[in-house]
Amino acid sequence: MAKPAFRCIECNEEASELHRDYSNGILKITICDSCKKPVDKYIEYDPVIILIDAILCKIQAFRHILFNTEINIHWKLCVFCLLCEAYWRWSKLQGSEQTSDPADIIRYTREWDFYGMFGLAALELAVFVCGVLVCLGLVQKLRGRTLDTRLLLKALLLSSYGKVLLIPAVIWEHDYSPLCLSLIKIFVLTSNTQAVRVILNCGRCLSLLAVMTGLSLETCVTLTFHKLQWHTQDFLQFQ
Ligand SMILES: [Zn+2]
Repeated sequence: MAKPAFRCIECNEEASELHRDYSNGILKITICDSCKKPVDKYIEYDPVIILIDAILCKIQAFRHILFNTEINIHWKLCVFCLLCEAYWRWSKLQGSEQTSDPADIIRYTREWDFYGMFGLAALELAVFVCGVLVCLGLVQKLRGRTLDTRLLLKALLLSSYGKVLLIPAVIWEHDYSPLCLSLIKIFVLTSNTQAVRVILNCGRCLSLLAVMTGLSLETCVTLTFHKLQWHTQDFLQFQ
């Protein structure tokens, strides 16, 4: 079985171990041969500190999570984030359809709308991820390098954790909700950009280009869906 390759969180150099366990019970953090700093200082830190640093988009925290831990919750997190997004869209849809007619209460039971919103959110995420992967795949091919698609996919899904903030945005809905939603979107995209930077060890320009490509394609899907929705509503009104 291949030995796990760790990475120095400061300079991205590969390391064979994060700490050395001496026989008398003393653990010593490994020092990086390249930058002479601890390979991964976060192994001593409390998870809350690591989470705060990840929220602050610190590249060291991203390297620790993606290279030096075995966190394997990206698919579960992805489904949870999609549920949060679907719930937000569904609640917005229900809110826009409110009328004074008591018979319209039945609309609140239209759970199919929720599944539709979930499907749309999943489609948008798939298009966004594919856009980023294709963009980076082409760039890496031009550079004569290979792209670790599996790791990049994991990084993109994990770094989209900010979508769970949609739930408090729905619960404490107020006049500033559109601003909150824009800030959540910017936070998720910033986090995605940092994740791409960490996986490819590239500059901000390339990671930003990849994320913007994904976002453009995602926006196209959203706009196409809304156009189809309007056309369907117009068609039904004329019936
Ligand atoms: Zn180093």
